[in-house]
Amino acid sequence: MNKTQKPVLVIGGGISGITTAVEIAEVGKEVILIEKEPYLGGNVVKFNNYFPKLCPPTCGLEINFRRIKQNPGINYFTSTEVVEIAGEKGNFKAKLKTEPLYIKNNCTACGKCAEVCPEERPNDFNYGFTKNKAAYLPHEMAFPYKYFIDDEYCKKESCNKCVEVCNYDAIDLNAKEEIREIEVSSVVIATGWKNYDASKIDNLNYSTSKNIITNVEFERFIASNGIGENKLLRLSDKNEPKKIAFVQCAGSRDENHLPYCSAVCCSASLKHALTIQELYPKSEIKIFYIDLRVAGRNEDFLVKVQNNKNIELIKGKVGKITETENNNLILEAEDILSGKKIKYEADMVVLATGIVPSNLNLNLEKDKNQFMLDIQTEGIIPVACSRKPMDVSSSVKDATAAALKAIQ
Ligand SMILES: Cc1cc2nc3c(=O)[nH]c(=O)nc-3n(C[C@H](O)[C@H](O)[C@H](O)COP(=O)(O)OP(=O)(O)OC[C@H]3O[C@@H](n4cnc5c(N)ncnc54)[C@H](O)[C@@H]3O)c2cc1C
Repeated sequence: MNKTQKPVLVIGGGISGITTAVEIAEVGKEVILIEKEPYLGGNVVKFNNYFPKLCPPTCGLEINFRRIKQNPGINYFTSTEVVEIAGEKGNFKAKLKTEPLYIKNNCTACGKCAEVCPEERPNDFNYGFTKNKAAYLPHEMAFPYKYFIDDEYCKKESCNKCVEVCNYDAIDLNAKEEIREIEVSSVVIATGWKNYDASKIDNLNYSTSKNIITNVEFERFIASNGIGENKLLRLSDKNEPKKIAFVQCAGSRDENHLPYCSAVCCSASLKHALTIQELYPKSEIKIFYIDLRVAGRNEDFLVKVQNNKNIELIKGKVGKITETENNNLILEAEDILSGKKIKYEADMVVLATGIVPSNLNLNLEKDKNQFMLDIQTEGIIPVACSRKPMDVSSSVKDATAAALKAIQ
């Protein structure tokens, strides 16, 4: 590889950005990987497990983190976003902004700062359903493995307790935001997705009913390091639900919300239903769907679900959910196959809300749903869920292809 060539900039440190970065660096070209969160791993790192093999997210990510650590060709910056890109293929200039990093890289993650920190914040890793301290480790497997201070909640010098207790002089409450100007040869956009805002779907009552959660929240409810620590608990009374309903296409394939299919929600709900059955074999599960779209190896889940007598697949769109006095939920749908109207009372509802592209405030070509178009200024390469919804294995393949394009 020509050492005089400029590095590649990869924006987004989820599974696709990480894959692109290591593939590029392992053929000898330098990479700058930036991530807006304080840790790498993207959405996958928040999952309980992931299909097709149902291994924990750390499975694939740990290997990649090791590849990053071992490769001096990858420079990564967390809590960092790009504010400007200009130029052309082979010769881009980008401006990066890093939030103030109050905890330095010599942090040993001993946790003393969090022990003495008096301020609490909503834990965004658990979608705000739990709290952690203003000085916090983002999660147990965080990469980089270091604490972070949330300056919206930290009282800085007026408190100073964390500084006093840190044995490594790793805290600087006067840290400022940093601006870096870099020159790169090409840019890979791996900014991924966020969940569609379920509160916009009025008829499904997500905002007002505590026992209605979304599919991404479900992952944190059930994860061993999550909200229920491997138990599924209703928020209203902390009881384990016995009857759980999944609402597919909650907002998806709906002109009023997302007109497209998010590609992964059916497989995700089948995965979730089987996870519940493993934990609570006596639970009753109903999955309301329009069409079941599962591809490749995920067909196996469908067969497993179809053979499970406690899980029923009902072809029918849920039109309405209402809450009862004891915080149960009544779902109303039309069973398309029997032609009958159904009312089903569940203890808990999971909305399979779809994927929307993350925001990236750069002047790039997008489709009408805000996904990046493949065709951009030459040398700018969108990848994986930034261009359309897809699962991890397709994202990894897409990322590998993007690495080759970026090198070329
Ligand atoms: C409920 C649910 C369950 C799923 N379960 C599975 C499963 O079991 N198996 C499977 O194969 N797939 C599953 N998926 C799909 C899987 O989540 C995606 O395939 C995967 O996350 C794609 O990775 P990505 O890197 O493209 O995006 P992401 O995981 O979204 O990562 C993007 C990264 O970019 C960062 N970023 C965003 N904007 C910026 C910016 N402006 N600047 C810097 N950084 C930025 C984000 O913080 C994030 O870290 C599921 C999806 C859903 C909705």
